[in-house]
Amino acid sequence: MKLNLTTKIILALILGAIVGLLLNLFAKDWFDVLDPYLLTPLGQIFLNLISMLVVPIVFLSIVLGTAGLGDPKKLGRIGVKAVSFFLITTCIAIVIGLLMAYAIDPGMVEGIDKSQAEGYKTEDAPPVGETLLNIIPKNPIASMSEGNMLQIIAFAIFVGLGLTALGDKTKGILKLFEQGNDLMMYLVGIVMKFAPYGTFGLLASAIGSQGLSALKAMWLYFVVVLLGLIVHGAVTYGSAVGFLAKKNPIWFFKTFSPAMSVAFGTSSSNATLPVSMEVAQDKLKVSKSVSSFVQPLGATINMDGTAIMQGVATVFIAQVYGIDLTLEQLVTVVLTAVLASIGTAGVPGVGLIMLAMVLNSVGLPVEGIGLILGIDRLLDMARTAINISGDAACALYISESEKKRTIKEQRGESARS
Ligand code: ASP
Repeated sequence: MKLNLTTKIILALILGAIVGLLLNLFAKDWFDVLDPYLLTPLGQIFLNLISMLVVPIVFLSIVLGTAGLGDPKKLGRIGVKAVSFFLITTCIAIVIGLLMAYAIDPGMVEGIDKSQAEGYKTEDAPPVGETLLNIIPKNPIASMSEGNMLQIIAFAIFVGLGLTALGDKTKGILKLFEQGNDLMMYLVGIVMKFAPYGTFGLLASAIGSQGLSALKAMWLYFVVVLLGLIVHGAVTYGSAVGFLAKKNPIWFFKTFSPAMSVAFGTSSSNATLPVSMEVAQDKLKVSKSVSSFVQPLGATINMDGTAIMQGVATVFIAQVYGIDLTLEQLVTVVLTAVLASIGTAGVPGVGLIMLAMVLNSVGLPVEGIGLILGIDRLLDMARTAINISGDAACALYISESEKKRTIKEQRGESARS
């Protein structure tokens, strides 16, 4: 029987979860042997294979996306639309997170052991102001070697604009970039053949090491974040797809699910980027130039799932420590979480590091992060799937609105002639 790749990945996720859980519950010793020699390497090989392609793909696709948009006015229009979409949906996401947390009060459950948080040391979150100032790279080659996505995007936009301005003079380089892009997409196809094994390893390792015991005291926090993610996906993205892009939201999620399952397995928006762009272009029929521009940008600055987790976590930690947040403080949480979302890199676990910044902004104890550390790996998977869906919904909306605009302009022209 020949199964398609999506089915294989989903089966691998389910199998990974079952194997992880069984090992955790009944065969801890086996897990200790299997994890370092089989499960973790399987996951790591897949993550490395796919991460290997990210920098060239982001660079080439943004160059080609920018050059493909042609006139700078169009680029500006799409840029403004994309960034506005990202900021507005991220604000909605945090508000959903805060509302759900206050409706369900996850931090009021008896039996939460604060001592878990005691040893937690925070890693310094990079200051967002600095990240924004550093968008223009001093050395683009260094940005590429460090994988600094915002800087790579900025440089690629410059190159794309230059190619447009020089036109025929640089058509050789443009062709080279196009061929480079085709080559990368071909490699994505090859690497994805390994995806089922990789996702199996990643899931079995994550669930095997944490099991469900981490969930015991924190289960309500876990449920609130999950509910927040589902509500945001269904309502916010559902409305964006239905009302703005005028497409069926169920079709959107069904069609985009292969990319979501890879995001779920890898917990990394960046690593999923090659797949999510391919699905958006091939299956959602998002125009290549819009997808190439909007999705890498979104994978870098748009993290709605992460923002939901941060909203819920802030209320949760405040409740556990018996601190009441004022309305003013809640507004501060929304604003800092938007900035944190821009500053969060699309790799596993960074959302939790950036949570330190949100907690600091309203004077909550940062070691509270230690409370949710245990189950964050599982939530990271779910929120990454939402993070990339937001980018795809935005790309779909912009692509559809641009198509309509072109049709209108063509009609106007033919009426004039
Ligand atoms: N893992 C998330 C992503 O890649 C970021 C995070 O919330 O940690 O989108």
